[in-house]
Amino acid sequence: FSEDVAGKVVLITGASSGIGEHLAYEYARRGARLALVARRENRLREVAEQAEQIGSPDVLMIGADVSKVEDCKRIVDQTVDHFGTLDHLVNNAGISSVCMLEEVDEITNLRPVMDTNFWGSVYTTRFAIPHLRNSRGKIVVLSSSSAWLPMPRTSIYNASKAALLMFFDTLRVEFGSDIKITIVTPGFIESELNQGKYLQGEGKMTVDQDMRDVQVSVMPVGRAKACAKAIVNSACRGQRYLTEPSWFKVTYIW
Ligand code: NDP
Repeated sequence: FSEDVAGKVVLITGASSGIGEHLAYEYARRGARLALVARRENRLREVAEQAEQIGSPDVLMIGADVSKVEDCKRIVDQTVDHFGTLDHLVNNAGISSVCMLEEVDEITNLRPVMDTNFWGSVYTTRFAIPHLRNSRGKIVVLSSSSAWLPMPRTSIYNASKAALLMFFDTLRVEFGSDIKITIVTPGFIESELNQGKYLQGEGKMTVDQDMRDVQVSVMPVGRAKACAKAIVNSACRGQRYLTEPSWFKVTYIW
């Protein structure tokens, strides 16, 4: 059974680029109403316009930073105020971090990774629960194959993605069949996150071409559009996990 999401309300965090942008287009193609969240409102506006052209009957843009608990609450409140309900919550917003722990100038510079990737998803989900219970809705969460792939210099990012796995697997037990959860663990998907710009040192974004070259040489490179389609299919079918077999080979290589 695959859910028809036409007219349903879908909240997507991190919709201004990459996988989140294509998730917006894929849900739009199926006629869903959308609440799109990101910090870059100019980019979000372009995605919203495109999603409307593709077929979404109503798109709400919300400029917000999911690393802030008050923004996570506002995201959910604004969505429900506007649409009256919430059917799918897609926790997609994330940032990367590539650095050796001993090279980090200030240890607290690593906090934004957990604040965005882990706590952003936890807080947004917490505020969404009553609405998702009412609609018998669904949650999608973007973990990563990195959750079980200990590559050098990715310790904090990997830990944030591994934390998501266990957190949402446990929520699944708490929710039973009331709210279904799809946990997604993509491999290497071409996106801004992977274009060689990484958070390092004092919060600077630096280009790490070596890292990117290594990744591209060993990992099959996926496209955000295909990834988004697979994610929406899985969510609509209520699948528990979405993984790609070749990503396990990558784990084996490392
Ligand atoms: P992108 O960098 O293209 O997209 C990340 C999105 O998250 C952007 O829309 C960005 O928008 C948003 N975002 C980042 N920080 C915040 C914040 N504090 N508040 C609100 N929005 C935020 O990367 P991807 O599309 O690749 O990543 C999407 C998800 O997929 C991430 O969770 C990532 O970890 C995961 N993933 C990606 C893989 C890959 O290979 N690309 C592999 C496995 C998992 P803005 O800057 O405008 O706020």
